[in-house]
Amino acid sequence: MALPPEPLSLRSSGIRLSKSKFLSGLQCHKRLYLEIHHRELASEPDEQTQAILDMGKAVGEEARKRFPGGVLVEADHLHPTEALKQTAALLGDPSVPAVFEGAFEFDQVLVRVDVLEKVGQNAWRLIEVKSSTRVKDVYLDDLAIQSHVLAGAGVTLAGVGLMHVNNQYVYHGGELDLEQLFTVQDLTVQVAGRLVEVPSRLAAMKMMLVEPSAPAIEPDNHCHQPYDCPFWDHCAQGKPDRWIYHLPGGERTFQQLAAQGIQTIDDIPSGFRLSILQRRVKDNVEWIGPRLKAMLQTVCYPVHHLDFETFMPAIPKFPLTRPYQTIPTQWSNHIETEEGSVQHHEYLCGDPKDPREELAVRLLESLGREGSICVYSAYEQAILKSLAETLPPLRRELEQVLARLWDLLPVIQEQYYHPEFGGSFSIKLVLPALVPSLDYGDLDIQEGGVAAQRYYRMVFEETDWVEKERIREALLNYCRRDSLAMLELRRALFSKASASEGRATR
Ligand code: SF4
Repeated sequence: MALPPEPLSLRSSGIRLSKSKFLSGLQCHKRLYLEIHHRELASEPDEQTQAILDMGKAVGEEARKRFPGGVLVEADHLHPTEALKQTAALLGDPSVPAVFEGAFEFDQVLVRVDVLEKVGQNAWRLIEVKSSTRVKDVYLDDLAIQSHVLAGAGVTLAGVGLMHVNNQYVYHGGELDLEQLFTVQDLTVQVAGRLVEVPSRLAAMKMMLVEPSAPAIEPDNHCHQPYDCPFWDHCAQGKPDRWIYHLPGGERTFQQLAAQGIQTIDDIPSGFRLSILQRRVKDNVEWIGPRLKAMLQTVCYPVHHLDFETFMPAIPKFPLTRPYQTIPTQWSNHIETEEGSVQHHEYLCGDPKDPREELAVRLLESLGREGSICVYSAYEQAILKSLAETLPPLRRELEQVLARLWDLLPVIQEQYYHPEFGGSFSIKLVLPALVPSLDYGDLDIQEGGVAAQRYYRMVFEETDWVEKERIREALLNYCRRDSLAMLELRRALFSKASASEGRATR
């Protein structure tokens, strides 16, 4: 394959790209430049991102079992020369049916290949393993750069495929059925279409990398597609507080405003077409809708305030569950009587067992048969529906619970706005704006993804009892805060609505 001329200075610099760096360069040249020359400007991955990476690793290890006799290249990314040597030895060994994490280098790019499966005398099939449940566009580029390097390194590829999780597989207990758990999709034709673009794209990246400074690229929506860029904080640090990027409503509005040279929400001209929510963000004042009090008064006492926490294991843990099925693991219920007294009930499963039946039985006891059940979004409804489907003996009672749900989120969306919402109705922003004495800042766990990851660690990983107890307490505190938040929000909104009504009648 003829390659475009390459800048000598890049070669002499010793810079070596990887497939992830190539993909970074496709997302944004500035990202690639900073990854190579100013890694220190990147934000560390947060706990949730790390959990996703760990899950991908666990899925990759499970996927290898589909290739019995396959051999892992042990040398890690810190020892590339050793990895290249081990790979070459394995490829030359006729008894090896598959190589995992094989290392190859060509055109100043080093790649590690998830699975290289022998499919003929001297032919191999390249398989990329992903924990996702479908083929995404970025995977074609991922496979294209690997194919480019392997071809250049002299490996004959008979096919290129993606192995991903099949979320329709139902686990029946015992050994996992790996044929069912994973789907292998042949992408040879699709990848060939991307492969032709690789040399010119690589050449452009190499040219850019020898420049004395990073290219001037402004942050916008491309920074989050297909992956969140770790340099976001660095690139966005000089932007004004009321930067137009924070206007809700997506890419199109942002692009239109940016094209007109508008930087801040306050500079948006009055004639510019905005949605109701965008208008509220622009006005930046508290707004109380005329129907707020009436809507809040539709609850029936005692009012329950219910929050679930869940986890979604990529590899099913319990019989009759599917990959990524949402499994509720805990709930918290704050119960307010008409006189204003409050009781609290909660449940958290601490054992490595299917928690659903016990969780549902305890929940039904807590919810009783009376009163509205306040939730925030349709999430709790979805969990209750799935419990009703899974647990036929409890179906009728759970359906009765479903009929009592009362969602606070649409009430706020329709009838209230506060400047501190910043265009979002996430309870994490709504709570401190309306109840300044209560937020999530004092909690060890501050959002649901981290709760799921900690739950997994507490129950399924080897963790000492001190750590288990610490996680248990943090999980209980987090779920409690969510249900208490709804109660306090209802109270705060009712006070606001009453005060506003009083002002209107004066
Ligand atoms: S934050 Fe955006 S502009 Fe900055 S390096 Fe990342 S992708 Fe590029």
